[in-house]
Amino acid sequence: MPTPAGTEVHARLPLREDLRGQVPYGAPQLDVPVRLNTNENSYDVPAEAAEAIMDAVRAEVGHLNRYPDREFAALRADLAAYLGHDLAAEQIWAGNGSNEVLQHVLQAFGGPGRVAMGFSPGYSMHPIISAGTGTGWIDGARGRAGAGFDLDPGSAAGQVADRDPDVVFLCSPNNPTGTALSLDAVRAVYDACRGMVVVDEAYAEFARPGTPSALTLLPGRERLVVTRTMSKAFALAGARLGYLAADPAVCDALRLVRLPYHLSALTQAAARAALAQAAVLLSTVEAIKAQRDRIVGELPGLGLVPVPSDANFVLFGGLDDERAAWQALLERGVLVREIGIAHHLRVTAGTPEETGAFLRATAAVQNVSEGSR
Ligand code: PMP
Repeated sequence: MPTPAGTEVHARLPLREDLRGQVPYGAPQLDVPVRLNTNENSYDVPAEAAEAIMDAVRAEVGHLNRYPDREFAALRADLAAYLGHDLAAEQIWAGNGSNEVLQHVLQAFGGPGRVAMGFSPGYSMHPIISAGTGTGWIDGARGRAGAGFDLDPGSAAGQVADRDPDVVFLCSPNNPTGTALSLDAVRAVYDACRGMVVVDEAYAEFARPGTPSALTLLPGRERLVVTRTMSKAFALAGARLGYLAADPAVCDALRLVRLPYHLSALTQAAARAALAQAAVLLSTVEAIKAQRDRIVGELPGLGLVPVPSDANFVLFGGLDDERAAWQALLERGVLVREIGIAHHLRVTAGTPEETGAFLRATAAVQNVSEGSR
C-alpha cells in the first residue's frame, strides 16, 4: 500500500530531503474477479507462445552460472526488426519494463539541478521517476475534457520554450486519456526544446488505423526518444521488458547509467522467443480494440462521457462522485482506476466477458435498468 505523505518513518530515517512526504506508485493489486485497473492485457499468453518461451528459458537455465550478454545484442537486433522503420540494433535500448528505460533516460539526461516536463493529465510515473532520480518536475497543461484532452502543438511548444526543460515527456496514446498525439505536436515540441524529448508509446499497438508513430521522426533528430513496452499488446507485463528507439549516441550514453547485466539471461531469452511469436501474441490486439470501442459506444447510454481512445483503456467522465463510483464498482467485483481527475474514472478494455461485467456494474451504479439500455 502507498505510504501516506509525511509519515513518522520518513521523519525517523535519514531519507533524502526531496523524497520526504512523497507517495510511491500504488495502483491497488486486489484479488477481485474483474481487474481492469492497470491496463494489462486480459488474455493469458497463448499456449503456442508459452511453449516457445518456456523452451527458450529452459535452454538458458543450465548456463545461469555465467552473466548474461551485457549489451543484449541479439535482443536489440530482434527489437529493431520488430519495430521496422529501418532501425538498427544500435538504435535500441531495453530494460526491465519501459519504466526502467525511462529511469535510464532521466539518470543520463535529468538528475539533480535539471528538470523534466510533462503535460497533465499524463502518465503518473513520469513525475515519480523524475523525483526518484532527483530531477525537478514541471507540470505543463494539455487541453481539458471538453477539448478531448488534446495537446495543441502551438500550446505545447510555447510551454516548453517558456520553461526550458532538460527532458520533455510526451505520451501517445496518452495515459490516462487515451489521446494520440499528432506528429506536428512532437515536431513542434522538439523544435522548441534544447533537451531530450521522450515520446512514451507504451500503447502504440492499440492505436486506430492512421495514427502515426513518432518512430517516423527519428531520422535527423538526435534528442528524440521513443519508448515502447512488451507489457501491453504483447501480454507480457509479468516478464518486464520495455525498450526505446533513438539515435545510437543516446543508447551509447545510457550505458553509463545502467547496472551491469541489468537484463537477465532469462528475460532476454523470454523476450526474444516472444518476439519470434509476435503474430501469435499480438493476435488479441484487435479483440481488445473492439472492446475498447464497445465501451466508448455504450457509456453514453449510461449517462457517461467517454474520451475517444487509441489505447487499451477508456477514460470516462460524467460521474457525480468518482470515489463513490469506484467503490460501488469494486463492491460488484470490478476494479477500475481512479486517476485524480474529478468526475472521471479509467477502465481497461478486457475480454468481452470482463467488459460486459464492467458495463453491467456501471449500469447498476448509474441506476440505468437493463431494459432502457
Ligand atoms: N508508459 C505508460 C504510458 C504506461 O501506462 C506504462 C504502464 N502503465 C508504462 C510506461 C510502463 O510499463 P512497463 O514498465 O510495464 O513497460
